[in-house]
Amino acid sequence: MILAVNILPRYGVRELDGVIITHGHADACYGMDDLRGWTLGGIVQPHINVYLAPETMEVVARTFPFLVDSSLATGITKKASEIEYN
Ligand SMILES: [Zn+2]
Repeated sequence: MILAVNILPRYGVRELDGVIITHGHADACYGMDDLRGWTLGGIVQPHINVYLAPETMEVVARTFPFLVDSSLATGITKKASEIEYN
């Protein structure tokens, strides 16, 4: 996911049906923050569905609280929390 915002459009990918976070390690979920660029101002698409297990959600909430609770977002990130967790 780290390069998704930059790389995927080069290959014609203009919409993500969803993102599956397989586990709570850095290699699987630390790119979550980069999803902000995908939804920022609806530039690419208005929101992204993210699918993850409850224990992985706990890791994401601890690591990126502003992506889970929009009241914690400030500045440019406030408009970037258009992620729907499933
Ligand atoms: Zn891992």
